[in-house]
Amino acid sequence: MMRIGSGYDVHRFGTGDHVMLGGVRIPHARGVVAHSDGDVLLHALMDAMLGAAGAGDIGQHFPPGDPRYRGADSRDLVREVVRIVAGRGFALENCDLTLVAEVPRIAAHRDAICASIAAALGIERARVNLKATTAEGLGALGRSEGIAGQAIVLLREVDSA
Ligand code: MG
Repeated sequence: MMRIGSGYDVHRFGTGDHVMLGGVRIPHARGVVAHSDGDVLLHALMDAMLGAAGAGDIGQHFPPGDPRYRGADSRDLVREVVRIVAGRGFALENCDLTLVAEVPRIAAHRDAICASIAAALGIERARVNLKATTAEGLGALGRSEGIAGQAIVLLREVDSA
């Protein structure tokens, strides 16, 4: 059996000198406002995985008001989501991520981001795809007020449920 899930996350820009994307630190003139590390790619990915497994969303598993998750490294949360999904009898077949951002541009970081995501998931690099697009200047994202991430995942049922 296969199960599909989708996730979406957005964070507004704030003070700072970098953004975290897929667990990779990308130097940038601004940071993002977030309780955790504000990694929109990993947050969208986790919501997609939880959704596909019928396990709710990251807000339920990692409440934003919980001090344990303040400044959390989202890769640690991804590892926990992998455990939650495995506990329901599923493993990730593949994931397809889209970053929507005018800035920063990530072409030079794409391979590192995919490798980082695959490592956090404990899967082969070939199962992770990352795309990037701009908002063509339209709306809040187009005005560079923040960045957004979207994820689609496919889970496959595994024997060791
Ligand atoms: Mg988030």
